[in-house]
Amino acid sequence: DVSSEHNNAQTPSDKGLPQAVAPGERMNATFVTLARNSDLWDIVKSIRHVEDRFNRKYNYDWVFLNDDDFNDEFKKVTTALVSGNTKYGKIPTEHWSFPDFIDQDRAAKVREEMKEKKIIYGDSISYRHMCRYESGFFFRHSLMLDYEWYWRVEPGIELYCDINYDAFKYMVDNKKKYSFVISLYEYVETIPTLWDATKNFTKHFPQHIAKDNSMRFISDDDGETYNHCHFWSNFEIGNLNWLRSDAYMDYFTSLDHAGGFFYERWGDAPVHSIAAALMLNKDEIHFFNDIAYYHVPFTHCPTGEAYRLEHKCHCNPKENFDWNSYSCTSRYFELNNIPKPQGYEKEQ
Ligand code: GDP
Ligand code: MN
Repeated sequence: DVSSEHNNAQTPSDKGLPQAVAPGERMNATFVTLARNSDLWDIVKSIRHVEDRFNRKYNYDWVFLNDDDFNDEFKKVTTALVSGNTKYGKIPTEHWSFPDFIDQDRAAKVREEMKEKKIIYGDSISYRHMCRYESGFFFRHSLMLDYEWYWRVEPGIELYCDINYDAFKYMVDNKKKYSFVISLYEYVETIPTLWDATKNFTKHFPQHIAKDNSMRFISDDDGETYNHCHFWSNFEIGNLNWLRSDAYMDYFTSLDHAGGFFYERWGDAPVHSIAAALMLNKDEIHFFNDIAYYHVPFTHCPTGEAYRLEHKCHCNPKENFDWNSYSCTSRYFELNNIPKPQGYEKEQ
């Protein structure tokens, strides 16, 4: 629905904001946020953090996507805060609805059952559309087609340290495709057959599996079963062309047809994570230790006091989740033979 798209091309000084101070080229990159109008006062907090700690120096664009029309207040307030250009897109109905192959009665029954079991968002239709959209569609929105790189930002997040380099350029220069700051175990009840669907995909599309993959991050028995580890996708810096590739799209399409976005409650985090672990080479996945981050209820606070002081961090290191037994980040370090940061034992 291109008619409802709205682009705000203003220079920072048009808005009373200082010009970007960081010298050098910019990458073909944008922030992207999926939100409702009612998320306004939580997304503006996130924008302030991102601008203060990073983007005021770089002035990257920001794309906002919504299944409804953004109202004028949402556009006005967010445009005033973002130092780059802001763009507002409405999601086409075909990308936010039940596919015709989904049995509505079966889906409704599942929502009832999950409600009784008190599974978080288990009875929600909109949450399922959201997870499916983030899994298979946001990178194909017409506003996103202009870009090669994205940084996902959700309402209510915090950034705790100054980021004094271009994280997008880091991805480009180091040939990274996907990145994370927090990893953890998925709630099993939401994804009982996701691994079966994944195995069905790998059987039919062996050509999409990377040689030097991260199977050991997601499976403890060489792919027989899923260990439920995933990268937390409310933060992501990633490559849009990878998500738009045949490999990723074949995976999404086969999961979509398996029906688990509606017959279970598959999240986009395990979907992106399994895809990255299987279809990218190990060295294409990056852990941004230096991006200190909070999304309720977990914190990534960089290990090591010297770093924190130098980057004016304001997170409590005791709240760092990395070395907690519910985090999968240790596995990532071990799998990639990366030495754990000095002093990590003290922060466990
Ligand atoms: P949680 O982090 O898993 O608890 O889920 P959130 O409530 O943060 O939702 C994830 C993202 O999707 C956030 O960016 C929300 O603003 C957005 N979101 C969730 N539901 C909807 C919806 O129904 N419509 C729109 N437009 N955005 C949504
Ligand atoms: Mn969230």
